[in-house]
Amino acid sequence: MRQQRLLNPTLRDVPGDAEAASHRLMLRAGLIRQLSSGIYSYLPLGLKALQHIQTIVREEMDRAGAQEMLMPALHPAELWKASGRWDVYGPELMRLEDRNGREFALGATHEEVITTLIKDEIHSYKKLPVTLYQIQTKYRDERRPRFGLLRGREFLMKDAYSFDRSTSGLDASYQAMFDAYVNIFTRCGLQFRAVEADSGAIGGTDTHEFMALADVGEDTIVHCPSCQYAANLEKATGVITNEGTSSTGLPQAQPTKIHTPGVTSIKQLSQFLTIEPQQIIKSVAIKAEGAPVIVLIRGDLEINEIKLKQVLGVAEITMLSEAEIQALGSIAGFIGPVGLSSVKLLADTSIQGLNNAVVGANEADYHLQHVDVQRDLGELTYVDVRNVGQGESCIHCGNELAFARGIEVGHVFKLGTKYSESLGATFSDENGVSEPMIMGCYGIGVSRVLAAVIEQHQDERGIIWPNAIAPYSIHLLTVQVKDEAQMTLSEEIYQTLTSAGYSVLWDDREERPGVKFNDADLLGFPLRLTVGKKTSERIIECKERRQGEVYELNVEQLLTHCQ
Ligand code: ATP
Ligand code: MG
Ligand code: MG
Ligand code: MG
Repeated sequence: MRQQRLLNPTLRDVPGDAEAASHRLMLRAGLIRQLSSGIYSYLPLGLKALQHIQTIVREEMDRAGAQEMLMPALHPAELWKASGRWDVYGPELMRLEDRNGREFALGATHEEVITTLIKDEIHSYKKLPVTLYQIQTKYRDERRPRFGLLRGREFLMKDAYSFDRSTSGLDASYQAMFDAYVNIFTRCGLQFRAVEADSGAIGGTDTHEFMALADVGEDTIVHCPSCQYAANLEKATGVITNEGTSSTGLPQAQPTKIHTPGVTSIKQLSQFLTIEPQQIIKSVAIKAEGAPVIVLIRGDLEINEIKLKQVLGVAEITMLSEAEIQALGSIAGFIGPVGLSSVKLLADTSIQGLNNAVVGANEADYHLQHVDVQRDLGELTYVDVRNVGQGESCIHCGNELAFARGIEVGHVFKLGTKYSESLGATFSDENGVSEPMIMGCYGIGVSRVLAAVIEQHQDERGIIWPNAIAPYSIHLLTVQVKDEAQMTLSEEIYQTLTSAGYSVLWDDREERPGVKFNDADLLGFPLRLTVGKKTSERIIECKERRQGEVYELNVEQLLTHCQ
């Protein structure tokens, strides 16, 4: 491809609200453009990288025995009502009506559609097991779309679904997907951990998340640097707040006591929290047994109200305005400084149920903590998740556990019969007895992977693509396009490399050399070949983007290598 004609609008500056490195770089390198909040167009280079990820996903899914198909994005509401999720999924589900007033949803996930399809098409044990997958656009009206492709409202997902006749069959299907995920993320060049996760609202019993390690990640994971053990802190803390020992082996944390002065206003709270008042933009009042509890939610975080109700065991949650909170003069204190945990509980009295509140939403950065309120002192006891397990040792190998931030790039669940039962996907066994199929579901955020790769592979000059994902593997750069000899040599190299199967972007633009070199670093293809001063000697300059190493190469050497 000749860069002269490529739609690749690079930028020097990006909007200030692009906080994540991957978001900034994707805008600067002209890979994506925003159409609306959380909705993006992929420009040619962005699409190429995305397609490379899709190819890896397809190869590994196929290798694991999964079959590709494609399902609609437009789902009749009846399906979601039949599974019960029409009401449970909440405002994240994009809903619409057709011209006849019939309700639809834009697919946020496809358990309902695939289960209904399989129910109609498979009736006998002889056709099981089967695993199907698709790579398709998903819609989720995220409360806070952000970080570019990391949290979009329209995004590309690979979702797979397995159907088995026995739990041991499901175990095997799950393991095959788990192994495929390890291969996929490894091939994408990601540093990641497979962590034990909470099954949240999906209702499974066994589940792992694949977390790409990155500071911008919205999840906190605890992992053992010496062995395989890793867990999402949601799960780890959930275990800790239960009585006794835990299956994940984290010991019970010692609650920290904080003496809190009487806090009666947002302003005081913000002083106490040492944050700006405007950062406290959301709060929730929960009326339980007559006493209000204020749950403060950091302004940039989501809250899943249904989950909050479940966890707290209350029926009503009322959102309060800042003025209303200020009017609630009875607040005795709050718990904890703002940290990794996102939900802070404020209480003026002891509330049954809250004492046993456990962590658990499967929402990013959404954790509830064990709270023990001492009414008379205005003193609260809490578990600060940042201290949980710090200095604690792993039950598997005894080594000290570490913490990291992670981006959830993949998620595998053992669903069991939740959907097959509600939607009637049954098969008859050898004896003609009808049984519900046993299901698993497996997601990868394909577009999120793209952003996660950039998050992990970049420097101050730009992107540093892993070979497998790079839009082009070679960037051929002609310093002076007006110099005929340089153009002729460039053309020769371009033709030879492309015929040998290399993907080459040829910078034949009439730009200043400085601009071209800067763009080449920004675009970050693995190898840059520069045709310049030493053209008459048929010598070009090579630069490996990752190592930064620059060396000269005789063109004959290069061409022989390609033949
Ligand atoms: P998150 O916790 O980040 O909201 P999730 O648990 O809701 O993600 P799943 O339902 O497990 O997501 O979907 C499967 C995969 O789809 C996730 O592991 C993630 O990689 C990807 N994904 C989910 N939501 C988004 C989004 N808004 N934008 C991009 N990718 C997403
Ligand atoms: Mg999640
Ligand atoms: Mg989500
Ligand atoms: Mg998930």
